[in-house]
Amino acid sequence: MTAHPPIRKIRKTGRMPQSLAPPPAALGSRRVVAPSVERIRASLRFDVGTREAVGKAAIDFCGGAVDGHPALDLRQPLEWVRLDGRDLTPDDLAHRDLGAGPEARMRVLDVPIEAGSRHLLEVGYRLETPDAEGAVPIGWSSDGVKFDLWMSDLEPGRYLEMWIPAPLVHDRFALHIDLAVEGTDRPHMLLANTAGVDAEPGRRAWSLLYPAHFTALSPMLVLAPADSIEMRRSAFGLPGRSRSLGMVIARHADVDADLSAAEADLQGWLAYLAARYQPWVHGDTFWAVIWGPARGMEYDGATTASVAALEHEVFHSWFGRGVKPARASDGWIDEAYTVWSTAAHRGDLSRFASEELSLDEPAVTLYAPHPWSRHTPRESYREGARLFAGIAHLLGGPDRLRAAMADWYRSNAGNLVTTDGLGAHLKLWSGADVGPLWARYVHGRE
Ligand SMILES: [Zn+2]
Repeated sequence: MTAHPPIRKIRKTGRMPQSLAPPPAALGSRRVVAPSVERIRASLRFDVGTREAVGKAAIDFCGGAVDGHPALDLRQPLEWVRLDGRDLTPDDLAHRDLGAGPEARMRVLDVPIEAGSRHLLEVGYRLETPDAEGAVPIGWSSDGVKFDLWMSDLEPGRYLEMWIPAPLVHDRFALHIDLAVEGTDRPHMLLANTAGVDAEPGRRAWSLLYPAHFTALSPMLVLAPADSIEMRRSAFGLPGRSRSLGMVIARHADVDADLSAAEADLQGWLAYLAARYQPWVHGDTFWAVIWGPARGMEYDGATTASVAALEHEVFHSWFGRGVKPARASDGWIDEAYTVWSTAAHRGDLSRFASEELSLDEPAVTLYAPHPWSRHTPRESYREGARLFAGIAHLLGGPDRLRAAMADWYRSNAGNLVTTDGLGAHLKLWSGADVGPLWARYVHGRE
């Protein structure tokens, strides 16, 4: 790192400190802070002729709760960097391990920023396969491109920051993307979980604005040649909503799936969950893109998933993206509760299992302790569901646990949730002492 004088020329905003942001991390003698991102304007251009893609982004942010070097992430090779109109170099925004391991590295701005002060960071980059575990390349074909944000909770760096600079998941920001497909006449189709999409008539350029309450794990975006996608639209009644909810369901042509059957299943699950847990906190449409591989990913009111994973991913529109993890380390909750509630196929437990859990089993760490950790442990599915079966038993049965979780959901719908908050809620709601189970099977304490 090279030294720059602290930037103090721009007035403070008086914003409240971000209680959900991780505390500052020490990097040598420097203090690294989570900034507060207000708006990201990005442009992604795909040239089908040369099979090259480029990105650029402008990030309006405020300094953190204390003075320090702000950290964001982008898993693409930077070509240029500018701060408040002044040229820096890509080395001034290099990846650093902040103590949560090299996989959870963040790009740290080599310029100290005063707490709460407003700035504009601009970057330009080549768009390649993101430098993160499990990321997939851009799908070039002779006269088209297939592109999917393809996020994952399981590996650090697998949210928006794969393609567009982004903060950690506690931070909400407005996201504007201009997207263009060049070097081909073939119309393309864009599927995204926002009503704010403007399309150019030739269907090769779009301007998208996602809701400002989104975080880095919220936006779904799928792009493919229009003639390679089958799509259905419908609308249906959802308990608790005065207006009907729209549904868009699509599949890639090479995926064998019956869209009308999947649509009926999705509508049934959505209606059931809206009745059971109440408010639908997303927009006026649910989006589903069907994939072939046995995988799925949840977004805010949306999913990209195989048919087999659809029920699990729809459940996440309540737990996971209806209430969202405040930190990546809180992400175990939604996987554990979703598996407990939906899936008999992940291990030996039945749906809504209730089974005593003694304190003799091996301790499990579902909550990664480092505040800059950025992944959901794989144990969250099986061991996490086992924990919920134990809590159901402790609370007096699965109906009691579901009622407690419904109450927790309603109190937090649309907001960020924490592991501590859920532990405190379960204790208060039931009077049962979940503390020992929590300590051993969430925090891994022997
Ligand atoms: Zn899941």
